[in-house]
Amino acid sequence: MKKIFVEQIIDKINQVVELFGWVHSKRDHKKIVFIDLRDRTGIVQVVGNESFKSLNLEDVVYVKGKVKKRPKKFVNPKMKTGEIEIEAEDIKILSKAKSLPLPVDTSGYEINEEVRLKYRYLDLRRERMKNNLILRHRFIKEIRNFMDEQDFVEIETPILTKATPEGARDFIVPSRLQPGKFYALPQSPQQYKQLLMVAGIEKYYQIARCFRDEDPRADRSYGEFTQLDVEKSFTSQEEILSLIEKLLKNVIEKIFPEKKIWKVPFPKITYKEAMKKYKTDRPDLREKKDINILAFCWVVDFPCFEWKETEKRWDAMHHPFTSPKKEDLSLLNEGKYEEVRADQYDLVLNGFEVGGGSIRIIDPNLQKKIFEIMGHTQKQVEEKFGHLLEAFSYGVPPHGGVALGLDRLLQVILNEPSVRETIAFPASSGGKTAVMEAPSEVSEEQLKEVGIKIR
Ligand code: ASP
Repeated sequence: MKKIFVEQIIDKINQVVELFGWVHSKRDHKKIVFIDLRDRTGIVQVVGNESFKSLNLEDVVYVKGKVKKRPKKFVNPKMKTGEIEIEAEDIKILSKAKSLPLPVDTSGYEINEEVRLKYRYLDLRRERMKNNLILRHRFIKEIRNFMDEQDFVEIETPILTKATPEGARDFIVPSRLQPGKFYALPQSPQQYKQLLMVAGIEKYYQIARCFRDEDPRADRSYGEFTQLDVEKSFTSQEEILSLIEKLLKNVIEKIFPEKKIWKVPFPKITYKEAMKKYKTDRPDLREKKDINILAFCWVVDFPCFEWKETEKRWDAMHHPFTSPKKEDLSLLNEGKYEEVRADQYDLVLNGFEVGGGSIRIIDPNLQKKIFEIMGHTQKQVEEKFGHLLEAFSYGVPPHGGVALGLDRLLQVILNEPSVRETIAFPASSGGKTAVMEAPSEVSEEQLKEVGIKIR
């Protein structure tokens, strides 16, 4: 005999099975004691004798027993296993549990989130969170299947790297081997994926972790997030949009069959129209807020630049590698920066930005010019981005790409109030990591090794 899951015993009437799991609940009827045993797949009632009295909630147990049909009047239609129960022959406590600092048999929304994050390993025992993690796994697995079928190659890119701007602050990591120098964690794999196009990979994707030191916001996880990152050579905006539409349609139909995508192809509106009609570049196009409707739309033709009043300079609206629209190049040359539109597209779902991308600049001179408009000196451009400009001088295919924020996408599909409900161990919006409560101090020794003194 070997361990089986609760889910698998429903048709094993009158067979002896061995189950492992947690004591989910306990009802003491003097001579008979009932427990509900919970494992990853479900809950089943176990009927035991007085030896069950010593069990605490959440103890980890082994139960051997016979699967029995319950008498009709004891059938519980609310439980998947409500027609059966286990008549225990043997029980062993594998590990005792203290009483828990938070309940795990509720939705969890009612519990203070700080407590949930401190005890995340307990919080994840609740059915809703466990299901979210399993759905996330299946969702990402289907994305990989689809991208593989479309001939995209998944390639990992470095985490210790050089700054690559996406409009946030960098996280920096001091170097021990070269004291006084720092790595930056990638805000996205943007430059590497473009270098992979120079390398001739043609179709790249990655389920990539990105790091951005952004200001706290209630509905995000601080510091890092996961995106589906895509880049393709010899492509066009139409092709990228249609690839992503096909991907989402395919994956959502498989993993979330109860959801209905409002319109395919996704409606497309320009930034200008969106701002005029909806006063936002993230319009929610649903007529009724039906929880099963997914209203995707593309917002296109963003302005290339935005004026940063605090810094008194132009900055890229998306990132500096985004190509201006061909027909607007003359405006660029005339210095009418506010009028130049970019070959950029954002994906919006029910009023949330869930992705974005662009066709890239491949002309090193145009790329230099964009950096200069953004206020970089020639020397800074050389230091920060010389590698990319040099790469573009050895034969670069025209290319473009896109990235989808998977935490946010899942949040909206699952109707969760925050991305943190889709992540196993998210940091709080204030920047404290779950369970381990980083950031924390490091020893004098460690600081010395990397040549750092705390002011
Ligand atoms: N690197 C961009 C981002 O992370 C996506 C892209 O342009 O492909 O938002």
